[in-house]
Amino acid sequence: MVLLAPEAHGWGVPVRDAREGWSAEWRMANGNCHYSLLAIRYEEFRMKTVAAVLYEMGKPSPYRVSQPLVIEEVELEGPGPGQVLVEVTAAGICHSDLSVVDGSRPRPVPMVLGHEAAGIVREVGPGVQDLKPGDHVVFSFVPACGRCIPCATGRPALCENGNRANAAGTLLDGSVRFRDAQGRPLHHHLGVSAFSRYTVAAQESLVRIDPSVPFEKAALFGCALLTGLGAVVNTARVEPGTSVAVFGLGGVGLSVVMGARLAGAWPIVAVDVVETKLDLARQVGATHAVHARRDDPVQAVRDVTGGGAHYVFEAVGSEQVLQQAYQATRRGGTTVTIGLPHPSRMFSVPAVTIVGEERTIRGSYMGSSVPRRDIPRWLALYQAGLLPADVLLSRTIALSDVNEAMDALATGEVARQVIVGA
Ligand SMILES: [Zn+2]
Ligand SMILES: [Zn+2]
Repeated sequence: MVLLAPEAHGWGVPVRDAREGWSAEWRMANGNCHYSLLAIRYEEFRMKTVAAVLYEMGKPSPYRVSQPLVIEEVELEGPGPGQVLVEVTAAGICHSDLSVVDGSRPRPVPMVLGHEAAGIVREVGPGVQDLKPGDHVVFSFVPACGRCIPCATGRPALCENGNRANAAGTLLDGSVRFRDAQGRPLHHHLGVSAFSRYTVAAQESLVRIDPSVPFEKAALFGCALLTGLGAVVNTARVEPGTSVAVFGLGGVGLSVVMGARLAGAWPIVAVDVVETKLDLARQVGATHAVHARRDDPVQAVRDVTGGGAHYVFEAVGSEQVLQQAYQATRRGGTTVTIGLPHPSRMFSVPAVTIVGEERTIRGSYMGSSVPRRDIPRWLALYQAGLLPADVLLSRTIALSDVNEAMDALATGEVARQVIVGA
């Protein structure tokens, strides 16, 4: 790992690996002592890392041909105040990454993608108090500021400052730490940018975890499990003995099934168009599986649940599937939508049913989670053998396989692919 000198200031070249830290290792090579060491700003320190950069949204699939993600060496500035340098040891590929690639979730480009990950803290910037080098962490994809009204009222997923930074493609303080070979700034994906061997994140984007959890499993707790379990437990508050249906069995939908099982729901009806995913759903707690191309999923859910499920979860990101989920919800029931359709898509329902049938439609972003509370508690259940999270991990891949992995995700043939050893 090569560190670049802040040559504009005439300071010497650092000599050791970034893993061991850089702040103590700088020395004056030219003997010109009229600057104080304290005057060196952390922002002036840079290292090189390899990252997957999206320069253009909406390239055609197959992505193994169009190569929307460019694997290249980029520069990474060291952690500023309140920021942390993390070596990314595992990064999951989530549908929200694909949604940026295909343009259905527009974000500023160029951008270093990846938002579901685990890693090791290598360096902390000034003012970071709760993390230290060597800590194992899971990334949280909304950097909750802790000061805005949503944060102050226990809803950090809706943090105003964190979501503003995410929309702008910056870290929480508005800074951007990556640059390409031409020196152009690269945006951050949800404050994480995990498709890079090293990344810098706000301390608010990180949750320390038990170091005994394998990284490729821990990463899944940053998005798939946090979102799916949270939708059941935090958003819907499913009670024992109520019925649940889940439309869409990717990493999030399968996590909803696990959450429904944990909550004591029965029956649990899983719906998808891929047979292997229906099998996975049965493995993690679904009592019934419905192939949505072979059977009418609305009628099937109604039949199994005696008129519609108490709670129906939509985890596809399609307004048509959301329509089906609404129709499969019973009178007095709750439809929870987790997927993220394109901003232009509209959703309509017979208005009278909301009143006449006392229906509830709830949105669930990041599982309405409090990551510092929820990531450790779900990990504890996993370690106790009560959460079959291993099922989510379809395969591990290398960073260089990321475009092919997007193709596999787009066809729906996998739950989660995790990049290791980027
Ligand atoms: Zn995700
Ligand atoms: Zn906030």
